[in-house]
Amino acid sequence: MILTVAIDTPLRRAFDYHAPAGVARERLAGLQPGVRVRVPFGRRQSIGVLVGCGTASSVAPEKLKAALEILDDEPLFDAATLSLLCFAADYYHHPIGEVFAAALPAAIRAGAAAHDCEEAWTLTPAGQTALELPAGRRAPRQREILERLLGGDPLADDAVQGRPARAALAALAARGFIRSTVLPRPAATITHTVSGVARTAAQQTAVDAITAAFGRYAAFLLHGVTGSGKTEVYMEAIAASLAGDGQALVLVPEIALTPQLVQRFRARFGGGIAVLHSGVAEVERRDAWRAARSGRARIVIGTRSAVFAPLARLGLVVVDEEHDASYKQQEGLRYSARDLAVLRAQRAQVPVVLGSATPSLETLENVAQGRYTRLSLPQRPGGTPPPRIRLIDLRRVASDHGLSQPALAAMATHLAAGGQVIAYLNRRGYAPCLYCIACGWVAPCAHCDARMVLHRRAARLRCHHCGASGEVPSTCGACGQPLAPVGQGTERVEETMARLFPDAPLARLDRDAVGSAAALDAVLARVRNGEARILVGTQMLTKGHDFPDVSLVVVLDADQGLFSSDFRASERLAQTITQVAGRAGRGSRPGEVLVQTAFPEHPLLTRLIAGGYEEFASAALDERREALWPPFSRLALLRAEARDAAALDAYLRAAAEAGRGRAEVEVLGPANALMARRADHYRAHLLVEGASRSAVQRFLADWLPRIERLPAPSGLRWSIDVDPLELD
Ligand code: ADP
Ligand code: ZN
Ligand code: ZN
Repeated sequence: MILTVAIDTPLRRAFDYHAPAGVARERLAGLQPGVRVRVPFGRRQSIGVLVGCGTASSVAPEKLKAALEILDDEPLFDAATLSLLCFAADYYHHPIGEVFAAALPAAIRAGAAAHDCEEAWTLTPAGQTALELPAGRRAPRQREILERLLGGDPLADDAVQGRPARAALAALAARGFIRSTVLPRPAATITHTVSGVARTAAQQTAVDAITAAFGRYAAFLLHGVTGSGKTEVYMEAIAASLAGDGQALVLVPEIALTPQLVQRFRARFGGGIAVLHSGVAEVERRDAWRAARSGRARIVIGTRSAVFAPLARLGLVVVDEEHDASYKQQEGLRYSARDLAVLRAQRAQVPVVLGSATPSLETLENVAQGRYTRLSLPQRPGGTPPPRIRLIDLRRVASDHGLSQPALAAMATHLAAGGQVIAYLNRRGYAPCLYCIACGWVAPCAHCDARMVLHRRAARLRCHHCGASGEVPSTCGACGQPLAPVGQGTERVEETMARLFPDAPLARLDRDAVGSAAALDAVLARVRNGEARILVGTQMLTKGHDFPDVSLVVVLDADQGLFSSDFRASERLAQTITQVAGRAGRGSRPGEVLVQTAFPEHPLLTRLIAGGYEEFASAALDERREALWPPFSRLALLRAEARDAAALDAYLRAAAEAGRGRAEVEVLGPANALMARRADHYRAHLLVEGASRSAVQRFLADWLPRIERLPAPSGLRWSIDVDPLELD
C-alpha cells in the first residue's frame, strides 16, 4: 500500500511512502485522506497530511521509504473543507503541503491531538514517591507542581503558564513523575438573547431572503451604508441557522480593529463562539480550531485563514466588509478568503452573505449577472441622513501645513458645537521627504528606489518599504545646506492640529502611534468616551469603528489615488472616501465630510460626490469592460526578484518566451515593478491575461512546470499570484 502525503515544503507535489510497519491491516484499509502521517523527509521527520492511498507510485518501490506513524483515526477536515483545500492548492498553483500548513494551527501541525480535549497532567506512583522524600533545595518549581497534583485532581495544561514552569513540567514528565491525560470538554451552551431592536422592513426582507435559502447554495450581497444595520441582519440570520445543530462562519477583515463585533456576538449568543485569527495566543488558536472541528463552537469568527476552519455542520457563511483588501493574502498562498468563502458555501450547499457599504466591483458585476442577489439596507435605522460630502479646492484656498482654511473653520465650528472631528491621511510619519531647498537633494533609501520618511518624534528617517532606518541628517548630503521636511504625515498633522486647537485633546491612530492591541483599545476608548475630541489617523480609521459623536470627517489628501497606474486605485479611493465618510454622523448628529483635493473636477470625485458610491461603481465597471480589466478578464502575475538586474530580465524574458503563442492568453512584460529596487533586490514581473478563469488556469498548469525547469539566476525568487489585487 502506498500513501501519498502532503508535506510542508515549497516543492509543488505530494510524496509517496510505504505504509508504516506494524499497523493493523483493518486500520490501513480504513484510512481516509485528511489524517496526519509522520514521515521521514530528507534528514529530518515531518508531519504531513494524507491526500491519497493507492497501490502504485511513479517512484520505484525499493526507493520509497516507509511512513513512521499514522497520527489520527479521523481526518482533520470534513469532506467539504478538504476539497476546498485541494481546490485552493490547484487554483492558486501553490504546494499542497503549504496549503495544509496555512490552514492548521502550529500545535496541530506539530502533532498535538486534534480531538476536542483539554490536556492535563496527573501524578504517577513514581511522582508520589518522590514527594515523600524531603524537599531539597533543587528544582523548587518541580516540587511546587508535584504538590499541586497531590490532591488527585489533574492539572490543566493551559493553567501552567510561563517558560520556567513549562520547563519544569517537561522535566517532571521526562523523569516519569507526571503523565499527561486528556479531559473531555464540557459541551458549550449557546444562548440566544433576542435582539433588543425591532428590525426595519429592509432588515426583515434581508433576513427572510437568507433564511429561505438555508440548505442550499445561494450568494447574497448585503449592501448597506455603514451603520445601516448589517450586523443585526447577520446575527438574526445566524440565530435562525443555529436552530438545528448547525454552525456559522463569520469572516471579518481584522479582529484587532473591530473588537466590538466579537463583543456584540458574545452579548447576543453567549458561549459557543470561537475566535480564530493570528493575533490570539497559539494555545487559544489550537483550542478554537478543535472546538470548530468538534462542533462545540457553533459560531466561528475569524480573519482570512478561518475560511479553512473545519466545520462539519456549516449552515451559513458571512463575509463582512467583503471589499476589504485584507481578505487577499499577499504572500505565500496568495488566496482570496472572500472568493474561497463563496466556493466553500457552494461545496457545502449553504448560503453565503457578503456585506459591504462599498462592494467590490467584482461582486457588483456578479449581482448584475444574476449570480448574486442584492439585499439593500438603504437607510440607517435611526433615520440619521447620510453625511453630506463637499470638495475643497486646494488651489484656491490658503492652507496651513496641509490643512485648508475652510477645513479648519469647519473643525472649529464642529468642536465648538460639541462634535468630534476626524482628520484622515493615509501617510504615516512626520513628512514623506526631507528636502534640500538649495539643490533639490532628497534623503533616499540606500536599499530601495524610495525616499526616507521623516519620523520626528523618534528622530529617525525610515524607509516604509524595507524597514531601513537612519539618523536624521542636519544638512544636505550633496551641498551641505540645511534641509526642510516637505509634505505631511499623520505625525505632522497631529502637531499642527495641537497648535491650532490647543484646547481639544487629540488622539492619533496609525501603526506608529498604536503598536499593540492594548494601545489600540486605549486610543479607541479615549475616542468613544469623548475625552479625545480630534482623531488623526490612517487607513486604520476606516475600519468598522462606531464613534457616535463624530460629526466632521476631513479627508486631507484625496489625490494620492487619482492618477495611479493601478487599475484598482480608483475603486480603492472611492471605497476609502465612502468608508471614512461613514464615520461621520452615526449618532444623532448629522455628519459633514470635507475632501481636500487639487483636482476637484476629476470625474472620479465629481461622480462620487454627486451620485454616491453606486454611480461611481457603475461608471468604473463600464471603464473596466471597455479596457478588458477584471472582472471582464482574468489575470495572474508572475513576480520575480534577484540581486542582478540583467539576469532577472533575461530570466523573465525566457519565461515569457516559454508562454508565447497561445490563443487564449497573453503574456505581457517583463515590466519593472513600480519600485524597481527594494531591499537591494531588483523586482520585475510578467502579467498573464486571459478571457476567463479557466483559460488562465489551463495556461498556468502548462506554463509553470516549464518555468520551473528554466535555468534561474542565483538568488532568484519568484511567485505566482492568481487574481492579484496589486499589479506590482
Ligand atoms: P452595520 O453593521 O451596517 O454598520 P449595525 O448592525 O452595527 O450596522 O447597526 C448600527 C447601529 O444601529 C447599531 O448600534 C445597532 O444596534 C443599531 N441598529 C441596527 N438595527 C436597528 C434597528 N432595526 N432599530 C434600531 N437600531 C438598530
Ligand atoms: Zn543640497
Ligand atoms: Zn528601503
